Amino acid sequence: MSPEHPTFDVLKLYSLDQLDQREKVRLEGHLSTCSECRRRVSSLAGTTESTAVAQCRRLFLRAAAHHPETRLADSLRARVLTPTEESWKRLGLPVPNLPASQWTPNQRTAKESWDCQHIKLLHEWAEDLNLQYDWVISEAAAQLTIWRSMPGVKGAFTGILGYEPPLFYIEAWHFEDELERRYRKRMKAKFASALQAHVRDVKRLRSRLLADRGSQNSHYRWAVEYVCLKWKWSDIARENGTHVTWQAVSKAVRPILAKIGIPESTT
Ligand SMILES: [Zn+2]
Repeated sequence: MSPEHPTFDVLKLYSLDQLDQREKVRLEGHLSTCSECRRRVSSLAGTTESTAVAQCRRLFLRAAAHHPETRLADSLRARVLTPTEESWKRLGLPVPNLPASQWTPNQRTAKESWDCQHIKLLHEWAEDLNLQYDWVISEAAAQLTIWRSMPGVKGAFTGILGYEPPLFYIEAWHFEDELERRYRKRMKAKFASALQAHVRDVKRLRSRLLADRGSQNSHYRWAVEYVCLKWKWSDIARENGTHVTWQAVSKAVRPILAKIGIPESTT
């Protein structure tokens, strides 16, 4: 086993297929001899391939959220979040975190009709964007859950996949051996250092993931124009700020469509 284990964020980027070729070759060399790191990689949110696909899908949705012609996140709020929040109140449903065992039979029946309305609105929203795919529905449903539970969150599809914050444990207080003041101080310091490490890791990953790697951002924007707005390759090339041919647009967008599982339109 090599003494030099790669850092956690290198393994994470590898699982998202975001390392450049040279780094990838070097890491795979290490993985071939180190079972410890192989185990860490396999515990990182499923297989490398499926995580990379999921990350591409999220980049696509993020591009659609930012595109001025689609504004996918705004329309998800207006067409699904707002009406379902209103009907939740109108149906007299309890606070969402009340255990289901404490709901009345009437509330349970009302919740079933709310569920039907919710899924119907979600599908209509997706259909108008030419995005009737299971993965779009489930990503949108997850985003709605985040907005409902954390009203302060304004953005959409911004999380880094499979990157969970560390769990923080408060150690038991052995009050005969440690004064309260010392114990409090020690736990606060432990929390502060876990928080510091997590913020540092996320920032490092963010800068790697969101950097424009070979015009990645514009390629996802073109994919959104092709799929959601049904623009032709030549329309996309013409609307693009700098000069680009329709062939270059098609060459950049096709691999993205193949990866996220959206067929090319035949018209
Ligand atoms: Zn290792």
